[in-house]
Amino acid sequence: KYVKLFNFSNDMIEDKPIRTEINELGEFGLIDHLTGAYETTREETRKGIGDDAAVILSGDHAFLVSTDMLVEGVHFDLTYTPLKHLGYKAITVNLSDIAAMNALPAQVTVSIAISNRFSLEALEELYSGIYLACKRYGVDLVGGDTTSSQSGLVISVTAMGQTYPDQVVYRSGATEGDLLVVTGDLGGAYMGLQILEREKAVYQSNPAIQPDLAGNDYILERQLKPEARIDIIKEWAKLGIRPTSLIDISDGLSSEALHLCKASKLGCRLYEEKLPLDATTIRVAEEFNLNTTTCALNGGEDYELLFTISQEDYDKLRNHPDFTVIGHMTEKVEGAHLVTQSGTLTPLQAQGWNALTSQNQPGQK
Ligand code: ADP
Ligand code: MG
Repeated sequence: KYVKLFNFSNDMIEDKPIRTEINELGEFGLIDHLTGAYETTREETRKGIGDDAAVILSGDHAFLVSTDMLVEGVHFDLTYTPLKHLGYKAITVNLSDIAAMNALPAQVTVSIAISNRFSLEALEELYSGIYLACKRYGVDLVGGDTTSSQSGLVISVTAMGQTYPDQVVYRSGATEGDLLVVTGDLGGAYMGLQILEREKAVYQSNPAIQPDLAGNDYILERQLKPEARIDIIKEWAKLGIRPTSLIDISDGLSSEALHLCKASKLGCRLYEEKLPLDATTIRVAEEFNLNTTTCALNGGEDYELLFTISQEDYDKLRNHPDFTVIGHMTEKVEGAHLVTQSGTLTPLQAQGWNALTSQNQPGQK
């Protein structure tokens, strides 16, 4: 059995004639390929892979669990990321996935892989951000793991929450004619990243030049220290709104809208003129010669919520400052499109960052 154990060539499938490169599949293609045929077997596993969090029934409660990993050089760049913010963000991006099931988060675990490049003081900074987020969101840190790394810092967080089974909102619940609504504004986190990358390049070419970040606090904070929209879960309860489907915007509006369409077996139409943009995002996009629509559609990392409601609920949120109706769900055959300002239809594309292509950039998921 162990005649041929060592594999010095380090070719993982030496005996097979074909080697498929994982970047041919992309992130979602890869997850689909590895898990698509897998079926859960336990009765209490209400939802496994394929939504923002898994849903596990326990007594008359639904227990939610979601995990996300942040890797140095892929998701963050320590040249411009304060460790305290990083700790904070590692927690909030995970809480966002619990919110994306219409539930309140309650506990987190935090696992880190570190090298001796990090001092105790640096890790204390990281944890001060973790504790700040825990305090602000009322969640408990209940465990984790600490190990060493030879290639940068890795932070993996698991978030848990609870609600009643009939309160859980899945990606799959939308019906034709439902309105598509988004919270907050879009594209800011991406523009914040552009500023940080620009100033990093300037600094690297001449360390005597101090980074110029003035006037961009809003978008820098959107990138470095995002919040989870837990407030919205409470707001829906107050307004008597129950979304029919729900997802958080981590990869970009296009990508997430396509997830809702796929899970709900529908198409959708978004209106360019409705996309909510902050004034700073618009100004900086112009500075960079970037199209604001592209930033809003594909920027990612805004951690806002994208959801659908039935048309009867429209009056409950029509003038609410947190919500913007940006489109509606259609029959599947109509596909998923953006209606531009000039009235033409362009297909939505999941250009949200692809974890496995060569163009990955720090700060993008
Ligand atoms: P999100 O952006 O909401 O964090 P992801 O896009 O990371 O979600 O993942 C999509 C779904 O695939 C989730 O249900 C997640 O739990 C699942 N998933 C991702 N990677 C793996 C993996 N390696 N093994 C099993 N399930 C995975
Ligand atoms: Mg999510």
